[in-house]
Amino acid sequence: MQNKDTLADTTTSKQSLNHNQLPLVVGVDLGGTQIRTAVLRGPKLLSRVSLMTGKNPSPGRIIPRVYTAIQEALGKAGTTIEQIAGIGIAAPGPLDSKTGVVFTPPNMADWDHVPLRDLFTEHFHIPIFVENDANAGGLGEHMFGAGRGCNNIVYLTISTGIGGGVIIDGKLLEGVSGTAGEVGHMTIDWHGERCPCGNLGCLEYIASGTSIARKANEAIHAGEGIELLTFARTMLQHSTTVPDPSALPTQGHDPATVELRFPPEETDDTSLGSETGDEQQEEHLHVNARTVALAAESGIPLARAIIQNAAEAIGVGLVNIIHCFNPEIIILGGGVTQMGRMLVEPAQRVVQERAMKVPREAVRIVQAQLGDNVGLIGAGALIYYYSKQ
Ligand SMILES: [Zn+2]
Repeated sequence: MQNKDTLADTTTSKQSLNHNQLPLVVGVDLGGTQIRTAVLRGPKLLSRVSLMTGKNPSPGRIIPRVYTAIQEALGKAGTTIEQIAGIGIAAPGPLDSKTGVVFTPPNMADWDHVPLRDLFTEHFHIPIFVENDANAGGLGEHMFGAGRGCNNIVYLTISTGIGGGVIIDGKLLEGVSGTAGEVGHMTIDWHGERCPCGNLGCLEYIASGTSIARKANEAIHAGEGIELLTFARTMLQHSTTVPDPSALPTQGHDPATVELRFPPEETDDTSLGSETGDEQQEEHLHVNARTVALAAESGIPLARAIIQNAAEAIGVGLVNIIHCFNPEIIILGGGVTQMGRMLVEPAQRVVQERAMKVPREAVRIVQAQLGDNVGLIGAGALIYYYSKQ
C-alpha cells in the first residue's frame, strides 16, 4: 500500500515538473458565439480573457478585438509577447492548417478565405498555428487529458455539431486537403436525410444536439409531442433559464483565472443555448437538446426514443471508427455527452454487438477530461505539437 502511494506521488510530481518546463504559449479558441484567449503553460491556464462575437463577427471587427484580448491575457499573466513560444488558434473548419487560411465557417458570417495565420504573424511576429477546433481538442486530450500516453486516439466531440480529431501513431491525421477526421459526416443511414454538408444520413445530422432538438420540435409540430411540450412549458415556468449542457461544470483543469469580458453585445442563440420564457412565445416554443434529455430522464417516451435513436447512431459511428482506425482509445467530449449513461450505454451496446472482436477488445471508450477549456488547451497544444514535428 505504501509503495503504491509513493509511486502515485512520484508520478504526479514528475508530470507537473514536466509541465513546468514547457514554454509559455497563447491559445485562442475561436467559437461561433464566444472567443476565448489564454496564456498557458501546458494544460495550466495562467490567465483567460473572453469576448462575445456578437451578431456581426466580420473578420475586420473581430480580429483586432482578439489582438486586444491576447494583450489583456498577457498582462493578467504578468508576461509579454516576447516570452511566448507561439500562438495556437483553434478555429471552426473548413480550414487549411498548412497555410492557416480559414475558409467559410458556417457560424461566422463574412468569413471567406481569411488568412488568419498571416494576419496574426504580421501583428505579433511569433510562430502562429491554426487548426480545426476538433483536431486541436484531440491534440489537447492526447497531450494533457484522457489520451495521455496513447498514440492511437480518436476524439469525438458531440455538441451542436459532431467533430473529430484522429491521431494515428502520435500524428494528427490531416489528409491531402486537411479535412481528414470529419467523423461527424460519416454516413450512418445511406437513405437518410440531406445534411448541410451535401451527404445523406450523416452522424451529425442524426445525433448532434441540434438534431436531437430538431427531431423533438418536428414531433411537436406534427402533434405527437404533447407530453414533451407540457414538460418543456413546465420547465420554463419553474426556471427562467434552461442551462446549456456545454456550459456544465468544467472537469479537471479550471484554475483560478481572471475572466474579463468586453462590453456584452447581443449573443447568438444556438439550439443548445439558453432560452427564456420572456423571449419565447409559447406557440413558438423551441425545445432544446437539454430539455429533451431531462424529459427522457423523467421517462417521457418520445424524448427517450429520440435520445435512444441518437445514442444508437453514435454507437454505429463508434463501430465505424473502430473498424477504420483501430484506436487504443476513443474520447467522447462535447456538451451532449454530459447526458452520460443514457447516451453512452446504448452506444456501447451497439459496439459490443457489432464491432469486430480484435479491434473492439483493444479499444477503451472514455469521457474527455479537459471539459470546457479543451479548446484553449488544445490551441496551446498546437505549439508543442508542431514544434516537435
Ligand atoms: Zn454531413
